[in-house]
Amino acid sequence: MIISIANQKGGVAKSTTAINLSAGLAQEGYKVLLIDTDAQANSTRVFIHPDVEVPLEKSLYNVIINFSPLASVIRKTNSNNLSFVPAHIRLSGIDLELAQAIDNRSERLKRALGAAKEQFDYIIIDTPPSLGILTINSFVASDKLLVPVSTGFFALTGLVQLQETIDKVRQTQLNPTLGILGVLCTLSDRTNVSKDVEMQLREYFGELVFKTVIPKNISLEEAHSNHAHIFDYSPNSAGALAYKELVKEVILR
Ligand code: ADP
Ligand code: MG
Repeated sequence: MIISIANQKGGVAKSTTAINLSAGLAQEGYKVLLIDTDAQANSTRVFIHPDVEVPLEKSLYNVIINFSPLASVIRKTNSNNLSFVPAHIRLSGIDLELAQAIDNRSERLKRALGAAKEQFDYIIIDTPPSLGILTINSFVASDKLLVPVSTGFFALTGLVQLQETIDKVRQTQLNPTLGILGVLCTLSDRTNVSKDVEMQLREYFGELVFKTVIPKNISLEEAHSNHAHIFDYSPNSAGALAYKELVKEVILR
């Protein structure tokens, strides 16, 4: 099962969800590969310290631009069952680099995943906050999308745009069966704004919205700066418990 964590808005907890969903699934015994397609490399930096440079040829860049086999850039983590593919800052210019490509440039990630698909139970793709070529590549390669929505501010307008992109990918026959696994309420607090947004999401998307709501929880943020996922950093925190619930729901779906 290949799942992209997608929402073209930044700061909605895409990377946080990609990291902790991957780690949680791995803890349940599934073989998991996390792929970071965002040039900002937030997911990558949980596993590789920011002071340590990722060589270009050992990153996703080399897979997309030079067709290197995915196996050559997959790294193990300290967590059992969890591997990942690092991003690189050069991914930020990839739309321009691929502008003249004559092959089907939207299918490069999909082709690269061919072999890995058999080796992993779940491949989780963290995507950039844009609808550029890497996001399209992720959508084309995926079975399902998981869409985090921050309940801190009203976000339905962005979702309409996301739906249009999904429709476009389906209609061009690049991935006619791409579906939404679920919509995840994130960064929830006890304010009325949060409750309102959650209610509107449930009205609009119905059963697609996960029962699990991820609360605002400082441990989730601290985990990032400590270069850890939440189950290593603070396994009893509200954030860890919430992501554990999400993991259960994802497995059931
Ligand atoms: P995105 O990948 O969508 O841009 P991030 O996952 O990087 O979003 O999250 C944006 C910021 O919010 C980060 O600083 C992250 O640590 C923080 N954050 C995400 N989820 C939570 C949460 N549930 N509680 C507190 N902080 C969070
Ligand atoms: Mg991110």
